[in-house]
Amino acid sequence: MPHREVFDKPVVRFELTRAHFPRVCPVCGKKATKTLKLTLFPGRRRYLNAMWDPRYMSIRGRTQSITADSSVARTLMIPVCEDHEYSYEDFCRLRFVCVIGIGITMAMAWVAVFKIGGDFSRGRFELGWAPAILVLFGFVLVLSWLSFRPSAVERAIRIIGFDPSLQNIIVDFKNASYRERFLEENPGVSEPVKWITRA
Ligand SMILES: [Zn+2]
Repeated sequence: MPHREVFDKPVVRFELTRAHFPRVCPVCGKKATKTLKLTLFPGRRRYLNAMWDPRYMSIRGRTQSITADSSVARTLMIPVCEDHEYSYEDFCRLRFVCVIGIGITMAMAWVAVFKIGGDFSRGRFELGWAPAILVLFGFVLVLSWLSFRPSAVERAIRIIGFDPSLQNIIVDFKNASYRERFLEENPGVSEPVKWITRA
């Protein structure tokens, strides 16, 4: 059943291809000198089937939703300052490596726990490979937690979803002055939205 989702602060809906991000860092507000590429896969999960404007829904939403391909990646080019620049691809690669790392070290940790347990039952404890494996496992866990935490930019620019046509994206800007500036710089292709309807 479609339900309405209301936001405390207005979120912004803008045209993916025609709107541009202000040349200030969304995290700290400093002058932006770098560009961050944020790749999004709309998929079906983040689909929004209706917007607040009924006219929009009937004229554009329905007709375009049939042809829109939700599996195609969309890329956002976001100017950021030097401090908040990172490579999104590298970030994703790190997450991937962490998942594999957890799998391997978890299997090894399992063996290590048995080794330590066996040693204990024989009344001795030695600092061999087994405790080292457990430390390594803990390290990989912490690294994974860090890599799966949203980055500063991802927290400042939270993607709420796409409209059915995938022409527009709805984004929650954490920083109010950044949001104002975004709307000012993109007249006609962006607008504040108070609520959306989710499928
Ligand atoms: Zn910054």
